[in-house]
Amino acid sequence: MYPRILIDLKKFSNNVKIVKEKADKKGIEIFGVSKVFCGDEVIAKEYAALGLSAIADSRIENLKKLKDVDIKKVLLRLPMQSEIEDVVKYADISLNSEISTLELISQEAEKQGKIHNVILMVDMGDLREGFYDEEEVYFAVGKLLFLKGIKIIGIGTNLSCFGAIIPKISHMHKLKEIKNNIEIRYNIKLQYVSGGNSSSYYLMDNEELPTEINNLRIGEIFVCGNETAFGNKVTGTFDDVFVLEAEIIELKNKPSLPIGESGVDAFGKKPVYMDKGNMLRAICAVGKQDVSLDALVPFDKDIEVLGGSSDHMIIDVSKSKNKYNVGKTIKFKLKYGGILSVMTSDYAEKVYIR
Ligand SMILES: *Cc1c(COP(=O)(O)O)cnc(C)c1O
Repeated sequence: MYPRILIDLKKFSNNVKIVKEKADKKGIEIFGVSKVFCGDEVIAKEYAALGLSAIADSRIENLKKLKDVDIKKVLLRLPMQSEIEDVVKYADISLNSEISTLELISQEAEKQGKIHNVILMVDMGDLREGFYDEEEVYFAVGKLLFLKGIKIIGIGTNLSCFGAIIPKISHMHKLKEIKNNIEIRYNIKLQYVSGGNSSSYYLMDNEELPTEINNLRIGEIFVCGNETAFGNKVTGTFDDVFVLEAEIIELKNKPSLPIGESGVDAFGKKPVYMDKGNMLRAICAVGKQDVSLDALVPFDKDIEVLGGSSDHMIIDVSKSKNKYNVGKTIKFKLKYGGILSVMTSDYAEKVYIR
């Protein structure tokens, strides 16, 4: 059945190994992020097999699916107050920035007879989650130390997600400073200083990275083979762990410019097309309901995705005339958003390559 997504577990585990070896040398623990592949159990198990210290996901539903995989689970997105029971049940650690939520987590943990581990998030300018004001962090720790159901095990930050702010050594120094201040002020030890995601990876090459930074939460490098501060390929990794395969259902010579008065397309947009004369156009049976079409990179450099609608994708294959036929398939590499969307689609068959 098509469309299908081919998942090369060997390439995936190669990517994980490359990052892990480097991190090990620096004394940095890696949380393997599973949200981009929707907490798929087969893939997530590779993280456990390769000895990562935890699996991290933004959705508690995904961690619940992974409850039988023997590895620590981390909830990346701040918990909703409406999901506290599951957070305590299925996550060993969660990232947090709200005292009121943590009070509920503590109560629930006591009820379940557990201690829930907490990493407090500090916003260093990306303006997504985290305490923005440094004093607020210290104030929060002071209050949270009284809660019996939780344990503060570290602090962390997240950059280049919303504000697209590039992580710098200066951010890491600030984080280190906050850690030291908390430890001195409250006479506690923090196990983790989590320096970010795939965009902080490049800082591992910098001699000035403080040794206090001992954790990163990585997803994109493992699935796409690139770090995300600058989009550079990480040497030795593969960029085709996930491949989308779609079947051609029509192949015809047609003009490049639609004919008639133009209104709006199926998504209410006014498309603009260039007149390139007649072209050989293939329609593949895959659409926006399965994948963000702008996140597809054809293996065949001579073909071009022109666009599509909910269930159709139109491709200019003029320069590869003899390669394609109706009933044959076309393969694409996927960017991050492409993997996310295909793995979420119920219509795409998952094929694991071992
Ligand atoms: C998604 C996410 C990550 C992983 O990001 P990548 O760019 O895929 O490495 C890390 N931390 C948090 C809080 C996240 O939401």
